[in-house]
Amino acid sequence: MVQGTMAEGENLMRESIHPKYNTVTVTCTTCGAEFETGSVLDSIKVDTCSNCHPFYTGKQNAIQADGRVDRFNKRFETAQKVKAEHDQIVTERAKRAAERAALEEENN
Ligand SMILES: [Zn+2]
Repeated sequence: MVQGTMAEGENLMRESIHPKYNTVTVTCTTCGAEFETGSVLDSIKVDTCSNCHPFYTGKQNAIQADGRVDRFNKRFETAQKVKAEHDQIVTERAKRAAERAALEEENN
């Protein structure tokens, strides 16, 4: 092989040592988006893409929503709800007791 430069328009790539460069479809398994790119692979599957990654969408996804902070917030929310229900029951009981006491006083 005669040494040359790319400027001379010669193909300097050695033959039969390079993998075949294909145009492949990239499929996102999360949102189902597809786009084309070049690769030596036959097909590409990705877990996240620019269509569904929170960095690009600005929204949390379900996997992130299961994080520690969210679990804490959920537990805190449940505790608040239970406390509110408890307080309501206590208030109603006190109200009923007061009504009963008032009735008994009327009867006496
Ligand atoms: Zn996606």
